[in-house]
Amino acid sequence: MSCLFCKILKGEIPSKKAFENENVLGFHDITPQAKGHVLFIHKNHTSNLTELMNLQPNQIQDLFSAMRDFARSQNLEEAGFRVVTNQGKHAGQTVFHTHFHMLYGENLSGFGR
Ligand code: AMP
Ligand code: ZN
Repeated sequence: MSCLFCKILKGEIPSKKAFENENVLGFHDITPQAKGHVLFIHKNHTSNLTELMNLQPNQIQDLFSAMRDFARSQNLEEAGFRVVTNQGKHAGQTVFHTHFHMLYGENLSGFGR
């Protein structure tokens, strides 16, 4: 298995953990695009949103519940945050283990702002 994020899950590549429960790991992005930038992945590998929804749609609840819990624990609910996933070439996906970027901690540019 050559998946980078599966290696992070196994501890073969170090990461800075931000959140963990039975199903989901959140770790700080190595190249943060905002003051806060955490990647949320399911412990069960799928490669993108399409595959996740085709094979393991329940994982979406695990992932979004984890992000909700993290936001609550960090007091982000009022100030807000952004969640993004990239699938495929046009979105610039570079790691083929489904992940959600959570950006927070400052005013976020883009998306019409
Ligand atoms: P994407 O471009 O949506 O596939 O996102 C992949 C993300 O993984 C990028 O934001 C990278 O900065 C991040 N990344 C790559 N390698 C690592 C790593 N070893 N630890 C943490 N984040 C990483
Ligand atoms: Zn993987």
